[in-house]
Amino acid sequence: MARRKLIAGNWKMNGHLDHLRELHGIEKAAKSHADVDVAICPPATLIAPAVQRTPGLTIGGQDCHEEDRGAHTGCVAAPMLAEAGAKCVIVGHSERRADQGESDADVQGKALAAHRHGLQAIICVGETEEQRDAGEAEAVVTAQIAGSVPPEATADWLVIAYEPVWAIGTGRIPTIDDVAAIHAAIRAKLGDIIGGEADGVRILYGGSMNGDNASDLLAVDNVDGGLVGGASLSADKFVPIIEAAAG
Ligand code: PEP
Repeated sequence: MARRKLIAGNWKMNGHLDHLRELHGIEKAAKSHADVDVAICPPATLIAPAVQRTPGLTIGGQDCHEEDRGAHTGCVAAPMLAEAGAKCVIVGHSERRADQGESDADVQGKALAAHRHGLQAIICVGETEEQRDAGEAEAVVTAQIAGSVPPEATADWLVIAYEPVWAIGTGRIPTIDDVAAIHAAIRAKLGDIIGGEADGVRILYGGSMNGDNASDLLAVDNVDGGLVGGASLSADKFVPIIEAAAG
């Protein structure tokens, strides 16, 4: 099945208002490569101004709470992201799984909250270096999929990002064969959970993707785009990835 490529940027805890100038070049590239979906997930404080300044660009959040409101100091609810103009939200990023101790069940709750409020959920999964060295990468990732993906999910609101933890921000990437094997395993596990919908779900690769390696990674079967950290912070580095996705 043909799936539109999605290139999503994760700014993490980087950027202030003045950094939004980078979005203009990204918006321009998104418009001239209309066959590619492009999104930027800035810090929550920048979502509304980003939407206002670059209305042609999809803006997303980096996390949401599983509940819609309540006594959860410091958390952001999915309806708040939606009100700010977000269209998608990353959930279960490995930095949150590690730093905030988020479980697969938490991530599933967050994905459902996103869907309740009309946001696409980008669920992140990925093994640590120790797990890969122990030959456990596929088992770890498919278990994360089994625990994190809501059985009621459909392809129009679910996106998966496979992000090996050891590849994030390190400049190292898995071999093309390893990427192909894990993405195929993710697609198969999705089939077990959501049946025929699995064919339409986009599975992104994330971890040190850049303008030099994007073409090779995006050409792999079942790689339907990229989740990009460092290289999404500047238009100069992000636009070549959009161009690679456009072929
Ligand atoms: C990420 O953390 O989602 C990521 C892919 O980071 P980087 O591209 O910097 O490795």
